Amino acid sequence: MERKSFELGDIVQMKKQHPCGTNEMEIIRMGMDIRIKCVGCKHSVLIPRAKFEKNMKKVLRSKASEEGQQEEQGT
Ligand SMILES: [Zn+2]
Repeated sequence: MERKSFELGDIVQMKKQHPCGTNEMEIIRMGMDIRIKCVGCKHSVLIPRAKFEKNMKKVLRSKASEEGQQEEQGT
């Protein structure tokens, strides 16, 4: 099992599409609940971490790894 890792400022792809048509969200606040902002319409929602992890498909752009451009590689 791989554990999803995400950080503040990451752009993530959600499994469910937002009504505005995009499924990309930016993490703008982390805590017990996570606040994400829709990249398309700038609407922000607060959702429990467990639900977020379940609904998140993958991290599209990580703020932390922007410089390195390193892709995760399984061996
Ligand atoms: Zn939206």
